[in-house]
Amino acid sequence: MPPSSNLPAVKISRRGTTRLKEGHVWVYRSDIVSANGVNPGALVSVTDERGKPFGTALYSSSSQIAIRMISPHPVTDLPSLIRERIQQAIQYRDRVVNDTDAHRIVFSEADFLPGLIVDRYNDILSVQILTQAMDEKPIRQAVISELNELLKPASIMERVDSRVRDLEQLPALSSGLIQGEKTSTIITMNGVQFHYEGLEGQKTGAFLDQRENYAAAAQYARGEALDVFSYHGGFALHLAKTCSKVTGVDSSRPALEMGERNATLNRQEIEWIEANAFDLLRDYSNSGRLYDTIVLDPPAFAKSKRTLDTALRGYKELNLRALKMLRPGGILVTCSCSYHVSQPEFLGVVSEAARDAHKNPRIIESRTQAKDHPILLSVPETSYLKCVILQLSS
Ligand code: SAH
Repeated sequence: MPPSSNLPAVKISRRGTTRLKEGHVWVYRSDIVSANGVNPGALVSVTDERGKPFGTALYSSSSQIAIRMISPHPVTDLPSLIRERIQQAIQYRDRVVNDTDAHRIVFSEADFLPGLIVDRYNDILSVQILTQAMDEKPIRQAVISELNELLKPASIMERVDSRVRDLEQLPALSSGLIQGEKTSTIITMNGVQFHYEGLEGQKTGAFLDQRENYAAAAQYARGEALDVFSYHGGFALHLAKTCSKVTGVDSSRPALEMGERNATLNRQEIEWIEANAFDLLRDYSNSGRLYDTIVLDPPAFAKSKRTLDTALRGYKELNLRALKMLRPGGILVTCSCSYHVSQPEFLGVVSEAARDAHKNPRIIESRTQAKDHPILLSVPETSYLKCVILQLSS
């Protein structure tokens, strides 16, 4: 490959080049040999220590991930490349997404657009910018103009992750409208409706990555159901289609209030309990309460490798309690969205919990994030969600 002569060059160590040869797209700061005079957020040509080019990348002057590869080839017109990648991301969704007007349109590295997340909520788009390079004005303009051209949204909002902007040393910004006026709408997934409030809630407003798992859970759920960590009722409302009674548990009152609004919207009755899930499951299992279906969808317990042991203990405790509370033939839908907990580790913990609960469940399905959150084979960090559906013997 000829060098991208007009771009500033960043030299990386042998460990860095090995990583790239293995197909990963990140190079850590500790593997940067020289990046003299390279501006924050610059498009750079990446070379090994002897100057052999490896492709083109986006540079961050402050993140531990200094290099995010954008192409194995020289790039001269970054805005055009970004537009092309957005088109490809939308084409991919056209093939794999159905039965919803809310889904992820761009998932950062997994769509070869590192640092950019775009979610669609019916006629509102929500954009998140996570790196110096994506925050550059011409890039922002290219993103917004391409989204407008292809999707014609009523409005576009920006959700700001202040912690990430801080880490990237980007100027502080608040979430809000980029264009248009509409900030709330109603979305429909798998025939279930949800209120969407663009300026509230977690992530970009909902947990779109669980969408296909909601439908799978509803396929097996029956009887009395308990949705633990229910947020706005994503699982609870899907379970209500097949279960005789559904209870949703969350520690956040605003989340449950939205859950109730969603229940009303779908003409469903759901019981909501504001409680710490650990306390509630301990009390309920000690007092011998039983359910036919239980969903566990806790927040990411392992935010880093350091907290892995504590996280695994948390998962074990929840799964042990839930398995004890299931009637014969009962269904457990158990999830983990911690990237640092691998699928085998998670299955290991659930299996230990089953042993301690003296149960021998079978796995009906071992699932992951919805297909609009693609997993790049060579970038393990793009795979984070585990959702295992188990059934006890009757
Ligand atoms: N199942 C939801 C997403 C859950 S996100 C969906 O599909 O939309 C995790 C939820 O756990 C959040 O709503 C948060 O308020 C709640 N939460 C966090 N810690 C909790 C705790 N200790 N007890 C109960 N809820 C908790």
